[in-house]
Amino acid sequence: MSDKVVTRFAPSPTGFLHIGGARTALFNWLYAKHTGGTMLLRIEDTDRERSTDAATAAILDGLAWLGLTWDGEPVSQFERAPRHRAVAEELVRMGKAYYCYATPAELEAMRESARAKGLPPRYDGRWRDRDPSEAPAGAKGAIRIKAPADGETVVHDLVQGEVRFPNKDLDDFIILRSDGNPTYMHAVVVDDHDMGITHIIRGDDHLTNAARQMVIYRAMGWDVPSMSHIPLIHGADGAKLSKRHGALGVEAYRAMGYLPEALLNYLARLGWSHGDDEVMSIADMIAWFDIGDVNKGAARFDFAKLEALNGVHMRRMNDAELLDIFINTLPYLEGGPAIAARLDDTRKAQLLAALPGLKERAKTLVGLADGAAFLFAERPLPIDEKAAGLLGGEAREILRGAHAALEAITGDWAAEAAEAAIREYAVAGGHKLGAVAQPLRAALTGKSTSPGVFDVLAVLGREESLARVADQID
Ligand code: GLU
Repeated sequence: MSDKVVTRFAPSPTGFLHIGGARTALFNWLYAKHTGGTMLLRIEDTDRERSTDAATAAILDGLAWLGLTWDGEPVSQFERAPRHRAVAEELVRMGKAYYCYATPAELEAMRESARAKGLPPRYDGRWRDRDPSEAPAGAKGAIRIKAPADGETVVHDLVQGEVRFPNKDLDDFIILRSDGNPTYMHAVVVDDHDMGITHIIRGDDHLTNAARQMVIYRAMGWDVPSMSHIPLIHGADGAKLSKRHGALGVEAYRAMGYLPEALLNYLARLGWSHGDDEVMSIADMIAWFDIGDVNKGAARFDFAKLEALNGVHMRRMNDAELLDIFINTLPYLEGGPAIAARLDDTRKAQLLAALPGLKERAKTLVGLADGAAFLFAERPLPIDEKAAGLLGGEAREILRGAHAALEAITGDWAAEAAEAAIREYAVAGGHKLGAVAQPLRAALTGKSTSPGVFDVLAVLGREESLARVADQID
């Protein structure tokens, strides 16, 4: 057997890929990449009533957007039901499991009596040692595994440490229902074994399941994979993550204009750290990640930190790459499709030229779209309230002079030439530079903030710039 690491991400397709699931996928992916192993994907669609194809599609789409690639085809857990059944029957043949014919009324009575004694509901083992010949005629039993009655089951967890479960709390749980369908607990073990999973990395809400799953591994004589149960994500206030805190599908983060790399960086840092490094590229994360370094305590999700980190990633990214991501994300951004519709080659070139200035001011792609809106605006430009304020009073007269000064530029239309012309005009007229630049900015962009006004002039070009200024004079 090789020592190659095989991890898996095993989402239940009952909803979108939420932020906690994305982090679980990320940790599996990073650990596989870090060790030169593989990550497999298993869709846990055993629950037919709650699983939908739309959810599966949303999960695959979310993973693809984040770049969390898996190896091979996704495995459908539901399709493996015959194999789950065969293993359950094999356990019966080996004497490690048995058919139970307890009726719903009997089971309810067991629950009642446990409740009365203040104990957790527990199956009393009444069919454990009975002879199969005692089975009621025609009845289809459920298969229960024989759980150890005393001692303890110890989960050696790379994140949680040694976690001990007294075996008296593990009853003989069902692995195959009387309708022939496997329980989730059983399906997970059979799948992880058959897929050759060496490392299970999942949310710590599954920690108690781990003890039960170990009973099945032991009964089959299978190796128990290494286990890591990672803490759930909480809101910034420490409460369980809700929508308000950011418990959204990853597609919502795409629509809010976060870069995949920044979101991954943020998620990686939730509960894991590498010295004081805050900003990490994907290559850094792969090089540095180790599952054993994940903290036990719950991590807190903080939008402000995510946004700041996203701004850093945007500024670090080279302009061509950022432009690519921006264009690919436009269909998902608010107001993005309108920009996409007007994005011809000229505007692409303008956008690329404006990016250095734009990305200094934007923390998200939505901010970038907002900052770039002036490039895509149609004349006469809509002027926002603050910009309108800059165009009042004597601003109009000043603009008239600025228009003439710009029109007089004879050489190349460039930021330097525009700046020289405007400075000269300001000095000659006894205006402060700002008194000229501000109304100019308002006329050119319809806003009171934008990249440097001379860069805006250069990016828009001579004709469009002069026309926009003229619109505010006449
Ligand atoms: N399908 C489970 C979930 O979405 C994960 C089970 C596992 O990782 O073992 O929570």
